[in-house]
Amino acid sequence: MLTNWICVTCGTQFTASPTPPEFCPICTDQRQYVAPGGQIWTTLAKMHAQGMRNELQHYDSQLIGIGTQPKFAIGQRALFLRTGQGNILWDCITLLDDRTKAFLNESGGIQAIAISHPHFYSSMIEWARYFHAPIYLHTADRNWVMRPDDQITFWSGETQRLLDTVTLLRLGGHFPGSTVLHWSQGTQGKGILLTGDTIQVVADHQWVSFMYSYPNNIPLPAHEIQRIRDAVAPYQFSMLYGGWADSVVQEQADSVVKKSANRYIEALTGAFIQ
Ligand SMILES: [Zn+2]
Ligand SMILES: [Zn+2]
Repeated sequence: MLTNWICVTCGTQFTASPTPPEFCPICTDQRQYVAPGGQIWTTLAKMHAQGMRNELQHYDSQLIGIGTQPKFAIGQRALFLRTGQGNILWDCITLLDDRTKAFLNESGGIQAIAISHPHFYSSMIEWARYFHAPIYLHTADRNWVMRPDDQITFWSGETQRLLDTVTLLRLGGHFPGSTVLHWSQGTQGKGILLTGDTIQVVADHQWVSFMYSYPNNIPLPAHEIQRIRDAVAPYQFSMLYGGWADSVVQEQADSVVKKSANRYIEALTGAFIQ
């Protein structure tokens, strides 16, 4: 029987095969890791049987987080945006359960899915097929797609407009195609940036960081941090939402990105060493 196997460590679903893949290329990459116990595979049916379910987190009436309990893979969450011009799913998670389907259907469904980078590709094809929504991925990361499908639209260049108020920005860094989403009308017109871990909210939620690999603590070079800082500089946003449930910068997030990039560059030049 053909099965769409799922890697337990990163949550990525693969093209259907009779037996599990030999290894998960996303986890053997330097940016991820194979758990100390070795490679483990699961399926959506098994996840449902284990009683996993999604929890909704209503940040406001237009922005809702969706994450799985108990925690699965790297604890990713997706964000559902109700823009008034159309609904967008930003980033994706592996489990799509009946409760999530019912809530999203009552909310008008999903018109487009956009994903920051391969650590959130998860079971994107399941979501895209169920909601009949195209998936927008940056073409620089197309080799990381483990379940190719006609639902995927690869975009190229530095920006991709999804709606009048919603633009994807390719910032790179963590992955060549690492993308963020700018929503100019979010939070009463003050602007919101959704970042996955292209830009990572750190412990105090007052600063952010930028890494080649978070689990392996591999930094980016200074010229990449400068480039990311300058690419995002033209955009205004008061709030920034990272890829995990509580990773939110509440105020002046555009200034936070700038000062955090400058702090990072200073650290790389040795300025912090006394
Ligand atoms: Zn994996
Ligand atoms: Zn990542």
